[in-house]
Amino acid sequence: MQEKTFPYTFNSFDTTKGRVLIMPHGPDPVFYGVRGENVDSLVNATKILQSDEKLDGYMIFKSNQGTGDHLKNELNSETMKPYASGTLTGIVSNTPKVVKGGHVFFTIISKNHEFWCAVYKETGISTLASNLIIGDEVHVGGGVRKASKNFPRIINLEFIEIKNLKKNLLKSNPTCKKCNKKMKSKGQNQGFQCIRCGKKNSKKIIIEIPRKLKKQLYIPKITAHRHLTRPLQRTGIINKTSKFDTTLSWFHVYRN
Ligand SMILES: [Zn+2]
Repeated sequence: MQEKTFPYTFNSFDTTKGRVLIMPHGPDPVFYGVRGENVDSLVNATKILQSDEKLDGYMIFKSNQGTGDHLKNELNSETMKPYASGTLTGIVSNTPKVVKGGHVFFTIISKNHEFWCAVYKETGISTLASNLIIGDEVHVGGGVRKASKNFPRIINLEFIEIKNLKKNLLKSNPTCKKCNKKMKSKGQNQGFQCIRCGKKNSKKIIIEIPRKLKKQLYIPKITAHRHLTRPLQRTGIINKTSKFDTTLSWFHVYRN
């Protein structure tokens, strides 16, 4: 069904884990719920899905799922309150820490304020967050968690958009051009020497380490999407139907 109706329906099935994402977790009068862009594609999806359960009918809801609606506010030193949510743009100001369990924590500075950010392992974007370095410019969003024993108020990130990547420069011992070997340090402030041919060099060289990140938007994998998470293929999409079109089949009772 997903293959036949994407992108007009979305987040129905996790192809990487083979998991169905349209069914409620508990006992529920709703047998399944499909997310989609319009009435026709949803009705079409229900015709593709087959179930042994005898269903009574369907009802289509116009909702803000998949819109990122909860991330419209700007987070700043005043709006950064527990349970608030929103977005902000800033500069990474410490080296991301990976803690036990694979969760990643780092800080960003925005308008002279430091904000803690958390990226949980389950989102599937924690590894990329761990590759951020001091000086990277990012636009991030999520919900604010209240302060705990170990952390002040912290933003649980639901997306990371990389605006600018700092060059990752590292000082390294010089290389002997003749032998193509790293020179050895002769001790503090005593320069470097090739152990093979004896050639000397006084200064370290600066090498640029390629970044593993791209200037792009990173969002969690679909199993970690919240109802309001805006999927990648919905970037910039606004469905403008302001009134209900009564000619469409919003509601239907099956006659069995
Ligand atoms: Zn040499």
